[in-house]
Amino acid sequence: MHRALLPFEFSEPASVEEAVALVDGGRARALAGGVDLVLKMRLRQETPERVVSLQKIAGLDHVRVDAHGGGALHIGALATLRQVEQSAAVTQGWPLLAEAIASIVSMQTKVMGTLVGNLCVGTPASDVAPALFALGARVKIAGVGDERDIAVEDFFLGPGVTAVRPHELVTEVVVPARPVGSAGRFLKLSKTADDIAKVNVAVSVAFSRGTCAHARIAIGSAAPTPVRAVAAEELLLREDWCPATAKAAAEAAARSVRPISDVRSTADYRAEMVKVLVRDALTQAADGAGVLDGHDGKEA
Ligand SMILES: Cc1cc2nc3c(=O)[nH]c(=O)nc-3n(C[C@H](O)[C@H](O)[C@H](O)COP(=O)(O)OP(=O)(O)OC[C@H]3O[C@@H](n4cnc5c(N)ncnc54)[C@H](O)[C@@H]3O)c2cc1C
Repeated sequence: MHRALLPFEFSEPASVEEAVALVDGGRARALAGGVDLVLKMRLRQETPERVVSLQKIAGLDHVRVDAHGGGALHIGALATLRQVEQSAAVTQGWPLLAEAIASIVSMQTKVMGTLVGNLCVGTPASDVAPALFALGARVKIAGVGDERDIAVEDFFLGPGVTAVRPHELVTEVVVPARPVGSAGRFLKLSKTADDIAKVNVAVSVAFSRGTCAHARIAIGSAAPTPVRAVAAEELLLREDWCPATAKAAAEAAARSVRPISDVRSTADYRAEMVKVLVRDALTQAADGAGVLDGHDGKEA
């Protein structure tokens, strides 16, 4: 590890418009909390000529519920992971997201690092991404003179590669109101508590008369990007809920991943653990949604 950073130009624009004009995704990189970027600059994995800090841009550090937008949760690009994890709106309305962030043990990372920065790193091991997939989140991206809005599952293109183009910045993540009666669960398997995931899983389910009426399943660290297990979701919506359905959905979910072997795990173990974690997450979420004791339709 090099202690000194190579020289670079430092800009602190005051608006998103100025910032998008400056960043090009290569020689000029955006800086939010700096947790990932500064470490990579020390390791010489990133050698930007210009670093564009977003910290002086007002109005990007919010975590708020939009009462006029169907009760959606809006998370600004400068909202830290800790801020999101501790927000009463999140713990009450979107506990799955708080649960995923709580699995990140490094407090310095959560206090400095932003939720949007976590996504923009583009790692398939993000703990935040599967929760946002399961919650149906969207990502707002500002460019020069325009803004686009994409589903979070279209944001990840490959390891370290996202949908953010040169002269674009993510401004916000928007999480829709939870379906009524839904419950979620995030589970993570890692070598040690403070390590990144070997495999992680997030699910969100709701039931109507013992059958799944809403199902989203997402898996991280088991493919080049986080993935949504659509075939498993479809199976859940078709079949009556019972332990065998949870097991069959978990097996279908394992068919949607493409794990690799690396220092953290083997591909075979990851595939096996996808089955275990998806089955357990579905069973626990179903319990939370009230299907096992006949109380489905619980208020969100
Ligand atoms: C010790 C340690 C432990 C960790 N543990 C975990 C863990 O358990 N689980 C987990 O999921 N993650 C973990 N992480 C990753 C961590 O969550 C991310 O590195 C952090 O959230 C990045 O956010 P940041 O604001 O610091 O981003 P920065 O470092 O500022 O930026 C990261 C990248 O995103 C780009 N970027 C930032 N904001 C924007 C934007 N608004 N628009 C476009 N591009 C942008 C930057 O140009 C840069 O390329 C860990 C990291 C460390 C160092």
